[in-house]
Amino acid sequence: MNDRLAINGGTPVRTKPFPLSYPGLYAYGEEEKNAVLDVLSRKSPFRYYGPDVAGKTKEFEKSFLEKMEKKYALGVTSGTASLICALKAAGIGPGDKVILPAITFLASAGAIIIAGAVPIFADVDDSFNILPSEISRLSDKYTKAVITVPLLGNPCKMTEIMIEARKNNLIVIEDVAQSMGSKYKGKYSGTFGDIGCFSLQLNKIITTGDGGILTTDNSVFYERAVRYHDQGMFREKEGFLSSNNANDVFVGQNYRMSEITGAIAQQQFLKLDNIIDHMRKIKNFIKSEIKDLPQIDFRRIEDADGDCGSALVLLLENKVIAKKFCDAVMAEGVTMYQQYNGQVVYMLPHILNQKTVDKNGFPFNQIPEKIEYYEGMCPNAENLLGRSASITFSFGCTMEDAVDVVNAIKKVAKGLC
Ligand SMILES: *Cc1c(COP(=O)(O)O)cnc(C)c1O
Repeated sequence: MNDRLAINGGTPVRTKPFPLSYPGLYAYGEEEKNAVLDVLSRKSPFRYYGPDVAGKTKEFEKSFLEKMEKKYALGVTSGTASLICALKAAGIGPGDKVILPAITFLASAGAIIIAGAVPIFADVDDSFNILPSEISRLSDKYTKAVITVPLLGNPCKMTEIMIEARKNNLIVIEDVAQSMGSKYKGKYSGTFGDIGCFSLQLNKIITTGDGGILTTDNSVFYERAVRYHDQGMFREKEGFLSSNNANDVFVGQNYRMSEITGAIAQQQFLKLDNIIDHMRKIKNFIKSEIKDLPQIDFRRIEDADGDCGSALVLLLENKVIAKKFCDAVMAEGVTMYQQYNGQVVYMLPHILNQKTVDKNGFPFNQIPEKIEYYEGMCPNAENLLGRSASITFSFGCTMEDAVDVVNAIKKVAKGLC
């Protein structure tokens, strides 16, 4: 092997494009296609009525709640919609605070703000997920809920989190957007708390392009979520709702899942275990091949048997080295990058500067005390994310790709550090 790094003009490990990080997309086949064609030939793309509704969305919800062993599931238009519905179902809004980890996608914080509440950022541990003790530290009389985020396939310590949350009377919403199918101690992420939220967007474990689903055992939360996602309507014919209780009427949104989305979702969902098994094989092979390199460490995986295998997150000595490492591995032909550009979510200008679409700083003006976000607020999160370098996998990655990843990382570790 040529030792000279590609970034310094050497020959790259590979020139073939690296598979894109769309895990489930590469599993698309005849099944998704036929399911969509069925909806089209019936001319019934709307879930609730039409000439010949197949009930694809309902079928997906049923498969989902059965696999997750939950009582209820509701398909929606996105992961963000699932979070907003969950927050609204749980009665969270203006004047409330919601705790969430400092490392997550913008949408976790955005959903809280759109729901009218204020996000409070918690630090993480070396799993990159919320540090359970942060929940008690950050809770006050305004705090109503905590959103947990199993990051990039890595399940959260849900037993510990539930104890901390209940001690503080908080509702627990699990934002499992990136980690559908991950498990903690044998139980699926999204099934520990009050409501579990999932995304079907392109980058997620399974995909319909856009889409989402939430799940709960709480009939009140479920009914409120159903109504919130459907203009506040009652559709007793669908069998969701027991009564038209005039005391609990509210205006809702439209976050209904279409039958086209439901059709693809159901077929992708049937492939979930295969997709995860495949990615875990690829990831575990790479990890075992590079585990003794002195230059790198790894994000801690909370439960190795429950990891989705969708991402390998390396930890380098510092931020400068991590950035160089990513650039050098990229030059070798393997896609390595810093998740969220190495930035915690509260450092994004929208959040840092509390820029909302509403007047007078709503919803931040709904809490009597001044809420401030600042660099250094969650030191572990800032440090870990800054030192991280990630590779994400898909159903399209082969063992050949995995070998290239190993060679690229070994080469760069030796040549750079
Ligand atoms: C992707 C993502 C979302 C939003 O999901 P969409 O389907 O894109 O709306 C929410 N939370 C996290 C952690 C995500 O990664």
